[in-house]
Amino acid sequence: MADLGTMTRTVDRLDTLTAPAPLVDAHQRRITYLRLSVTDRCDLRCTYCMPERMQFLPKAEVLTLEELYDVARAFMARGVRTIRLTGGEPLVRRDVIDLVRAIGRHVGSELDEVTLTTNGTQLAGHADALARAGVRRINVSLDTRDSDTFRALSRRDALPQVLEGIAAARAAGLQVKLNTVAMRGVNDGEIPDLVAWAHRQGHAISLIETMPLGEVDEAREDRFVSLADVRRDLESRWTLVPSDARTPGPSRYFDIAETGGRIGFITPMSENFCSGCNRLRVTATGQLYPCLGGGERVDLRAALRSDAPEAEVAGALDRAMLIKPERHDFQIGAGLAPTQPRHMSVTGG
Ligand code: SAM
Ligand code: SF4
Repeated sequence: MADLGTMTRTVDRLDTLTAPAPLVDAHQRRITYLRLSVTDRCDLRCTYCMPERMQFLPKAEVLTLEELYDVARAFMARGVRTIRLTGGEPLVRRDVIDLVRAIGRHVGSELDEVTLTTNGTQLAGHADALARAGVRRINVSLDTRDSDTFRALSRRDALPQVLEGIAAARAAGLQVKLNTVAMRGVNDGEIPDLVAWAHRQGHAISLIETMPLGEVDEAREDRFVSLADVRRDLESRWTLVPSDARTPGPSRYFDIAETGGRIGFITPMSENFCSGCNRLRVTATGQLYPCLGGGERVDLRAALRSDAPEAEVAGALDRAMLIKPERHDFQIGAGLAPTQPRHMSVTGG
């Protein structure tokens, strides 16, 4: 595999020709965080994320690693300080470590951080390489520690690999934050145990409300649980002390006095956090979605592959600033279609 760091053709010159303007949207929000999907494919089929027979995008439409690096460079040139690689499952993409390494070279200068969100199934084999490539923190999705629940929820039998992956990440010196989607009747009864376990292992954990993104095989209204209710339940057991801790994402944190660990709440449904949004998302096919919950998009792949990529990419980023919506408006209810037809595995989380 060629060295991506020396291969970028398109956008390296952007930041030297002129000093490009930072990304500020029409609602005066400064964009400093990119979530970059490297594939929409996945080795699990979580029931809240995708249907059993998920249609994946044709591979020919997906950006090359060099193009993904060009996208990352273009955003760095406009003031993005954090890049999170996501998917689908980012670790199922062959050679993804080359991309992490190339982006990781900018940590400490243009970037504060390169990180990724993973389901953990392939983490044991990649943890050391990720740490060597400049990753310091990762998010691992873990909705349950019960193997039957895991199998029903992800439609695969992979809990041992995931737990092995989490242990390997810790052994490699990576700081692990767990992400858990709370689902009524599936894992809501297990959340206190999961939180206590995470804290015993030294991991922070963020709980997430399920969002109406893409058709799935179950009724989301049957599964949705408000984190306001979950928090009340946790507060009846433990002392939750609001924390000043902030990560670049939408989690709001509390420290639990009794466990000595940190818990985050990501509440896209029950408590809107859009006023502080600093994020943009680019799919594996180079579609830039300024909002997870909106249909607005600009085509970065066409810009990258045009005859004048510097000007076209710069123009595409400027357009994204004009069309980023003020807020999402997710609705879950009987008979309601998903707010967006795109699955979260396409846009990346
Ligand atoms: N495959 C990786 C993983 O699962 O961590 C990365 C991609 S996944 C789309 C990113 C995050 O989105 C995961 O934490 C997952 O649980 C969450 N997610 C997926 N579909 C969701 C939905 N409809 N509502 C809320 N969170 C969702
Ligand atoms: Fe795959 Fe992540 Fe979606 Fe689960 S949540 S199906 S692991 S992309």
